[in-house]
Amino acid sequence: MGLEPVSARGRLVDQQDAHEFLRCFIEALMACSKKHLAHSNSASSPDGASLSVESIFDIGVRTSIRCSRCKTVSGRAESILDVSLAIANEPAGTSIVSLLDRVAETEVLQGENAYACDNCAAKVHATKTTDFVRMPRIFVLHLKRFDNSGAKIDAGVVFPETLAFKKRLHYDLRAIVVHYGRTCRSGHYTVFVRKGAVLHEDDTKSTWEEISDDVVSDAPWSRVQAQEPYLLLYERRT
Ligand SMILES: [Zn+2]
Repeated sequence: MGLEPVSARGRLVDQQDAHEFLRCFIEALMACSKKHLAHSNSASSPDGASLSVESIFDIGVRTSIRCSRCKTVSGRAESILDVSLAIANEPAGTSIVSLLDRVAETEVLQGENAYACDNCAAKVHATKTTDFVRMPRIFVLHLKRFDNSGAKIDAGVVFPETLAFKKRLHYDLRAIVVHYGRTCRSGHYTVFVRKGAVLHEDDTKSTWEEISDDVVSDAPWSRVQAQEPYLLLYERRT
């Protein structure tokens, strides 16, 4: 499949934000995948469904808002490619597990954030719930490492090598993208990738590699853990 759309939209010759580039890249892959599937004969491609890039990255999210006055519930469903987690103002050592749990916590809309209910034609007290109704094979988490001015937020977060989601789905960390630099306008990205599918408890067995441009070096899990990631890619266990 051709990847011209990536270079056309992402302008590979320019410096890019890794998060924007990843979204751009996945969207281009999805477009190519859809085109490929549309032109392939499904009868001769029994595993055609596995070629859908959308099924690999797509996250289904449903948001419901319940008005406290008329009890009307309004819902909205959307597809997203990654979950963005705010880390500003978080104490050092905050776990991405708790940040993820917070996304799904019930939120009370009141005061300045009161809900404009169409039925009541008024700003009312309401509760908002967010549910992940469809989980991807590759779960991408984006940490908001830059403030509105583009300055870096150096918040250390804890991230597990294995993530249990809703106590049912288990994801293994496959890669993290790290940004070096003070602002989003410059710097350098490296990526840490896990080699193989087997997790080793023994930290002396290096199962991770750091890739920095054309330099590839072994990295123990302790070194990976010490990073302040910008993006994390988890793979669902089958
Ligand atoms: Zn209402």
